[in-house]
Amino acid sequence: SDVGSQKERVVTEEEWLQKWEMGNIGFHKEQEHPLLQKYLDVLLNGRSGLRIFFPLCGKAVEMKWLADMGHSIVGVEISEQAVKEFFSEHSLPYCEEPVPEISGAKMFQSTSGNISLFCCSIYDLSSSIVGKFDGVWDRGALVAVNPCDRQRYASLMINLVEKNSSYLLVTVSYDPNKHKGPPFYVPESEIKSLFG
Ligand code: SAH
Repeated sequence: SDVGSQKERVVTEEEWLQKWEMGNIGFHKEQEHPLLQKYLDVLLNGRSGLRIFFPLCGKAVEMKWLADMGHSIVGVEISEQAVKEFFSEHSLPYCEEPVPEISGAKMFQSTSGNISLFCCSIYDLSSSIVGKFDGVWDRGALVAVNPCDRQRYASLMINLVEKNSSYLLVTVSYDPNKHKGPPFYVPESEIKSLFG
């Protein structure tokens, strides 16, 4: 298919913040994603106590679900509203602290310590700040990234994972001439060239 119609599209950070303010968050789901339930074994691969990364996390309920299974969760999200709603909707006490390496960024951490959400742009992160991960749940993340930023996003993600990690990626398949996105249509061939 022709993805030309989406290639130039840019959604600014300000527009994302506005979506949260307006409650225009149709992407948020109250139930754990059925594909995460289905492929949980692939993500865990027999391991316990993993460090799992949620890029562009919103207030994804799967973060609480995996934390309750004993994993430690790190997310990144530009909307502070989203991060605060996550903790309040799950009645999780948290503390808030600056991130010295990133000007203007804050880290919100559950008091129990197993969920840490960075409030900043994902492009501000590096493995020296957040470490490396055993698993990634990428839903509404690669497909939400502006098409012009995909290469940068993929390179960063590759840098943030351990050698023996599992990366679950959810994409959407549709005719890109019929919707402007996000979520954007990312063809399988592009995923292969981005992640190798
Ligand atoms: N993964 C979540 C949210 C998907 S929507 C879920 O499954 O529900 C994409 C989210 O990415 C939005 O909440 C938006 O505010 C956030 N976002 C967009 N650009 C970002 C960036 N550069 N860095 C961090 N978060 C970003």
